Amino acid sequence: NTSDDSSKTLEGSNTSEKTLPERVNSVDSQDDPLGGNLWRQNSLSVTLKEWDIPYEQLVIEESIGTGRFGIVYKGHWHGKVAIKMLHMDSDTDNQAQLSAFKQEVAMLKKTRHDNLILFMGACMKPPHLAIVTSYCSGQTLYAYVRSTKEKVQMNKAILVASQIAQGMGYLHARGIVHKDLKSKNIFLENGKVVITDFGLFNVTRLCHGNRKGEWLNISPGWLCYLAPEVIRQLQPLSGKLDLPFSEKSDIYAFGTVWYELLCGEWPFRNQPPETVIWQVGKGLKQSLGSISGTREFKDLLMMCWTFNNSDRPDFAWILKALDRLPKKPLHRSPSHPIHISRSAES
Ligand code: ADP
Ligand code: MG
Repeated sequence: NTSDDSSKTLEGSNTSEKTLPERVNSVDSQDDPLGGNLWRQNSLSVTLKEWDIPYEQLVIEESIGTGRFGIVYKGHWHGKVAIKMLHMDSDTDNQAQLSAFKQEVAMLKKTRHDNLILFMGACMKPPHLAIVTSYCSGQTLYAYVRSTKEKVQMNKAILVASQIAQGMGYLHARGIVHKDLKSKNIFLENGKVVITDFGLFNVTRLCHGNRKGEWLNISPGWLCYLAPEVIRQLQPLSGKLDLPFSEKSDIYAFGTVWYELLCGEWPFRNQPPETVIWQVGKGLKQSLGSISGTREFKDLLMMCWTFNNSDRPDFAWILKALDRLPKKPLHRSPSHPIHISRSAES
């Protein structure tokens, strides 16, 4: 059902409206006999044209992994890029899928922040649907926190979390909910945080291979990022994933990333999905026994993991809280004067 689908992607259509370039805005919607709908569709296609990448122009190299979307390829398009190829279902309404995809692209094109992946464009002509972003050669935060036996140093954890909060705060200020914030969607490029895959959850839902029959497909490590209000809506017997993601569910997911930074692993590790769903849905939390850091570090985590979503803080608050956390004094060699040893801890 087409109209149904457009309502699901309301976020995308609303946001695209706010950022229409002047030449499109100058069209008077009063003249539109369809009350603005046609005008809105036309203006969307005008603005999207600038971001359309002809599929033939892409140089596609080896695949770098398979995720929710389908296969991600390394490639070239005016430099090194990552190409997320979307395999859409052939058995459902293609027009609806295509328009949902375009709404997501309309949202992506307005994201410009140092801690967000650079969206370069998209292939929008079926059957070749793909999202093209800059390529991250660094490691993911997921790999980073698990790469050494030692835990991430406190100062470094604060630095990384602050950059995540800055990128996420920007997304929220633009009315974009990430919906899939996790350590695998955060890259570290020379110490700089780069967040990926924001706002694409609706697209992934449309992708072929993500729905196995009528059963909910739960990938390992997904549940621990889901806020109680989201987890309580998981419905095993429904193929639909109309989950109540919000800015506050992103805050909960940030809490889990903060936990990973402090502990080097996921909360509820090795627990079966039904146990995690039951516990989180009831408001139970991972015990904080293995967390390093002082009470303030745990307090921040508990704030993000608050059961009641309206009681969770926002990213502006989190940034301030991170700034107030006790920092370990940097080790200074007595032979070095203070002013040249002020570089950030690596
Ligand atoms: P997930 O986020 O669950 O790992 P994805 O489909 O997003 O699944 O990614 C699949 C693979 O491609 C992962 O190994 C991921 O690290 C890699 N990848 C995704 N985007 C990029 C990118 N922009 N640069 C480099 N590698 C990427
Ligand atoms: Mg990803």
